[in-house]
Amino acid sequence: MSRLCSPNRPCTLLLLAFLQLAFLLFLYRRSLSGSFTGSMYEEDRGGHWDYSKTHDVYTNLSLVTPSPDRQTLSLCPDESPLLVGPLTISFQKVPLMSKIARKNPYVQAGGRYSPPHCKAQYKTAILVPHRNREPHLRHLLYYLHPFLQRQQLQYAIYVIHQTGNRTFNRAKLLNVGVREALKDEDWDCLFLHDVDLIPENDYNLYICNKKYPKHVSSAMNKFKYRIYLAGMKIIRTPLSLGHYKMISHNLDVGNEKNEKRFDMVVKVARSWRLDGMNSIEYNLLHKEELPLYTNITVDFGNSAEVQSNIK
Ligand code: UDP
Ligand code: MN
Repeated sequence: MSRLCSPNRPCTLLLLAFLQLAFLLFLYRRSLSGSFTGSMYEEDRGGHWDYSKTHDVYTNLSLVTPSPDRQTLSLCPDESPLLVGPLTISFQKVPLMSKIARKNPYVQAGGRYSPPHCKAQYKTAILVPHRNREPHLRHLLYYLHPFLQRQQLQYAIYVIHQTGNRTFNRAKLLNVGVREALKDEDWDCLFLHDVDLIPENDYNLYICNKKYPKHVSSAMNKFKYRIYLAGMKIIRTPLSLGHYKMISHNLDVGNEKNEKRFDMVVKVARSWRLDGMNSIEYNLLHKEELPLYTNITVDFGNSAEVQSNIK
């Protein structure tokens, strides 16, 4: 039996592993105790929602008619009169892009929208990292477009697509999305959105909190570490509102569990200020305005190139 610690095999590795574990435990406990304010919830104006009674996400949208004069629109009200609460969501049939476009006549090229009858109070860009999930993307677009229109927002949907077969890098795609979206418009709010999570309640408003980064779905858990390191607080959508339906799926090729994830969590404590938005380099292949979204295609290379880098 080999011994872990011996004169020619020092305990450094063991010690490192222990330190990593201790650090993770520390972060976990802080999040449980709420001392990095994980438990700060936004006010729940709706109260108790009954998710057994749901509405079609397109309800009432056909009542919206454009104002003849776009220059003199009055401000949209603080609370949209179109909201209905819990929405009916089903993944039985994958809708065609042409059908989604037909059902959303006021969405313009690039997946952009401004209410045609009032001046939006908020403008939000939705950023969706993507590779090889077309059916999910169609479900998301089918539900998200009317969902955002119900909220009377000005918005655009950006899909940031990674080409090549290198390991999927969601965070880097989102950084690219932020850069590119801000070139188009001075957005009030950037929403980082998984392709397979569909919001179930239209009172879950896709607007930013004035002070804090907002966590609207559990899928965003992975970002908590960095927010904690930056000394920021985080605000959450009330549990009763933050309902999301997840489209079930298998593990994707190129998105396997990262064996280095614990090392990365430890390293990020030192590197987060320098790494990320400030340092990002990418090869932008396309930025095109499709009928239902703006497609940004970036090349992060192929796995063969990763191996040649390691040598
Ligand atoms: N994703 C993708 N293609 C992949 C892997 C991930 O488009 O091959 C995107 C997609 O937006 C997805 C998100 O990254 O919703 C998070 O990945 P995943 O759904 O695998 O994470 P989990 O289900 O574990 O939250
Ligand atoms: Mn998923």
